[in-house]
Amino acid sequence: MTGGEGPRIVVLSAPSGGGKTTIAKAVREKHPEKFGFSVSATTRRPRPAERDGVDYYFWDRKRFQDEIKAGRFLEYAEYAGQLYGTLRSEVDRIRNSGRHVLLDIEVEGAEQIKRLEEDVLRLFILPTDPTVWFDRWQGRRTESPVEVRKRLERTVEELAKGAHFNRIITNDELDEAVAEVVRAADEGGWEGNQRKIMDSVVLFDRYKRFVNERMQQLNKAIHSSKG
Ligand code: ADP
Ligand code: 5GP
Repeated sequence: MTGGEGPRIVVLSAPSGGGKTTIAKAVREKHPEKFGFSVSATTRRPRPAERDGVDYYFWDRKRFQDEIKAGRFLEYAEYAGQLYGTLRSEVDRIRNSGRHVLLDIEVEGAEQIKRLEEDVLRLFILPTDPTVWFDRWQGRRTESPVEVRKRLERTVEELAKGAHFNRIITNDELDEAVAEVVRAADEGGWEGNQRKIMDSVVLFDRYKRFVNERMQQLNKAIHSSKG
């Protein structure tokens, strides 16, 4: 990834709870002249505050599959039993306006995009402290230890992929994270910056240790409730 002139595709990814939805929203609200948000299509149902054509295009499975056949998607993936995909028309519309294309997509889609498109910047979003991530992620959710463990297993995979992204955005203070996304779009990734690469290795190690410890605690809880 080289320094940036011209529009790029900027992919925001994160393990669930990392903050990508919050950051994508803040970036597009604060810098509408610089970024356009690519509205994805999905087969999942809208949540109460979501609007068709703004948050997603909410399509049924038949429509989604017809659009796949018609070649309308740049990428698509299944997540939690639902289909999600990036429309070529969205990416073209934003690029033609001279702005960066902001994508909020899961890691598999991010990998597909990287293979297909040239100037793709993949940003991985995480708070510095894994306990902050865990608390934000779990919020007021009340899940059984088995469910939490299942989600943590997915997190392990997401972290493994995230370690290969172009740049980490630390999501501690929202305004700083937003500014860092803007900087990244201008500057590109961290390739060649040894200090930043070492910092991110330390960060990922910290997350891996944290997730492993949590999984061990959950395994104990699951065993003792069975025993
Ligand atoms: P993701 O889309 O990656 O799953 P969200 O954007 O939904 O994550 O964020 C997870 C939770 O953390 C939400 O409740 C959100 O309001 C909160 N959050 C995100 N970023 C910050 C931040 N910088 N400071 C405080 N809370 C945050
Ligand atoms: P949610 O249902 O919470 O809005 O999104 C679930 C997951 O799907 C999130 O990780 C989100 O980033 C991802 N997602 C949203 N749109 C797309 C898309 O167009 N393509 C892919 N591959 N993933 C998407």
